[in-house]
Amino acid sequence: MHQDCIFCKIAAGEIPAKMIYEDDQVVAFLDINPVAPVHVLVIPKKHIANLMDTQPEDLALLGHAMLVIKQIASQLGLSDDGFRVVVNTKHNGGQTVPHLHWHVLGGRFMNWPPG
Ligand code: AMP
Ligand code: ZN
Repeated sequence: MHQDCIFCKIAAGEIPAKMIYEDDQVVAFLDINPVAPVHVLVIPKKHIANLMDTQPEDLALLGHAMLVIKQIASQLGLSDDGFRVVVNTKHNGGQTVPHLHWHVLGGRFMNWPPG
């Protein structure tokens, strides 16, 4: 666990969150400030600050996260209408929490390009 990392604390159960999925590698929970009718965050339990800090050894973890996202999207009823997966990365990406996470956004049409 990375000290003072809010998402590490959520993964460890030290800060409460509306958990919707957990396994040995990742957890998923509702975003505290949803920007869509469905707004879930999927995070690795391992502390990785952002996408640029991933390594070849994380290959299986990254692939696993994608398959978990697919399963969550299906469970939340997003598979027919679709959804968006976003990984904000560093300053220009708009990343505010320095622990890698996937936003899963659905329940409405997502505009393109993003703001
Ligand atoms: P980003 O801006 O891409 O780093 O996304 C961080 C997300 O984490 C934002 O959408 C926040 O609303 C969300 N967030 C921050 N703190 C919490 C928390 N304690 N529980 C759930 N979501 C959170
Ligand atoms: Zn962390």
